[in-house]
Amino acid sequence: METHEELQTPAQTQSVLSNAEIADRLAGLAQLLSTQKENPYKVKAYHRAAARIRSLSSSLDELVREDADLTQFPGIGEAIASAIREIVLTGKLRKLDTLRGQAAPEVASLADYTRLDPKRVLRVYKKLKISSVEELREKLERGEVESSLGLRMAQHVRQGLTEAHAMLLYRADGLRDSIEQFLFEKCGVKAAQVVGACRRRVEVIDELAFVIQTDNFSSVVRRMQRYGGRTELLESSADGALFALAAGITLSLRLCSSRDWGLSLITETGSEAHLEKLEGVTGEITSLHGKGAFTTEAAFYQTFGMAYIEPELREGYDEVERAQRGTLPVLVTMKNLRGELHAHSTSSDGSHSIEEMAIAARDFGYEYIGITDHSQSLKIARGVPVEDLWKQIRYIDQLNSRLAGIRVLKSAEVDILTDGTLDYPDDVLEELDYTVCSVHSRFGLGRQEQTERILRAMDNRYFNILGHATGRLLLKRPGYELDMDRIIHHAKQNGCFFEINSSPDRLDLSAGNTRLASEAGVKIAISTDAHSTREFGTVRYGIDQARRAGLEPASVLNCLPWPSLERLFRR
Ligand SMILES: [Zn+2]
Ligand SMILES: [Zn+2]
Repeated sequence: METHEELQTPAQTQSVLSNAEIADRLAGLAQLLSTQKENPYKVKAYHRAAARIRSLSSSLDELVREDADLTQFPGIGEAIASAIREIVLTGKLRKLDTLRGQAAPEVASLADYTRLDPKRVLRVYKKLKISSVEELREKLERGEVESSLGLRMAQHVRQGLTEAHAMLLYRADGLRDSIEQFLFEKCGVKAAQVVGACRRRVEVIDELAFVIQTDNFSSVVRRMQRYGGRTELLESSADGALFALAAGITLSLRLCSSRDWGLSLITETGSEAHLEKLEGVTGEITSLHGKGAFTTEAAFYQTFGMAYIEPELREGYDEVERAQRGTLPVLVTMKNLRGELHAHSTSSDGSHSIEEMAIAARDFGYEYIGITDHSQSLKIARGVPVEDLWKQIRYIDQLNSRLAGIRVLKSAEVDILTDGTLDYPDDVLEELDYTVCSVHSRFGLGRQEQTERILRAMDNRYFNILGHATGRLLLKRPGYELDMDRIIHHAKQNGCFFEINSSPDRLDLSAGNTRLASEAGVKIAISTDAHSTREFGTVRYGIDQARRAGLEPASVLNCLPWPSLERLFRR
């Protein structure tokens, strides 16, 4: 199959436009369209198509030349398909060139910085009286963007000017699947398994690593250079290769034999700290290669008298010792979950009604769902006024009397105001089954003040679960600074709980903080913060982090049936 590919000269391969180059032009067009008062949906459609194309394995260049139907790919409609054909066949995109020609130079140059929002940047230009990306970079470094236009704008500019070298785990999963398929179908490997940080479920990924089995490694390396049209090979040796993927992260392939398969999975999956501890038991691991003793991971662990260590635990905490003693935790899985404790409805900024959310939760296999709409002060998320919350409480009682198979819990995501008070009066909080309390404002308070604010909120007897504790948005903004030890201690004393917010760009608490909270005896909710009926499935990313923290079902709030939870929530 496809032997003709082998005969292509390097020059021919070079002339193929990579998917990344095609995506750059579509995103550039989106940039210029957005400064033109163009329909924002159209702008978004181009950006979204560009993002999809960057992680597509098939070469769009080849597909166009084979006259294939590009609209088979999600996110590519007729207009975008015809733009792609134009780019491939003529090497140009007329519309982009025209707009570039008409635009003022400071606008035109933004076509190359597709992660910057042109409208926002032009606001910065105006305010700081500058007109180029170079000046923007300078002002950013001197702190002037932040001092004149605020922290969020500075973060946006910094992110837009930094090249992406990392991606969120859920996006890396998509790429992993696509590469795995390519390895089997186009490169003809006999076995392939993702290892490294992605297998350990680390929340941000900068390298995808695979171990593979093949009789012809150099042919696999050659073919992988055709991934997504063209993928740059950074380094290669007889048994390893490193590529730069268009999505911004690297891809590492390592050749392994079937005789050493289990051993290779062990050495390529564990973190450095983990491997160091492991070598305390096994002696130098590399010396075990080539003896053919470890075709599976199970065989390896058995030989050294250890229980199987789940990949998520291979970070170098106490897992090696516990594997020897046979006291590893039995980690929580999706199957253990009985309900959802953080979800929004159309009452605030969700897309589906309370009833629709309830039925979707039941279909997902849950016994209960807490409706946690935003509280009154959070105007940008259509916070619920207190009189409407009273109505909602009565409505949910009615709903529960007619719905079978699911219990709707009366709740709210209550803002923790700057002074640490909660955003509803006690008499209405008392009527709720429980609360999720979150910080949504004033992220810039110092560590001390922010910590005090949360401690104070926890003193309210209607405070149950601290929502997305640090407010971090992965790859966008760090969390606000907190004295986590004090907050965990206070939560333990007051009978409060934390959540792991499963939204892939939050995963907040982090696995590290979850481990600390759980070791202190504080139970954790694994929540999705769903804003629509389609989002319950994202809980698996929260489960990943819970497993990294070593959580067993007994430490997870929503593994409990409602009557037990109800007792825990009453303070
Ligand atoms: Zn929130
Ligand atoms: Zn929320």
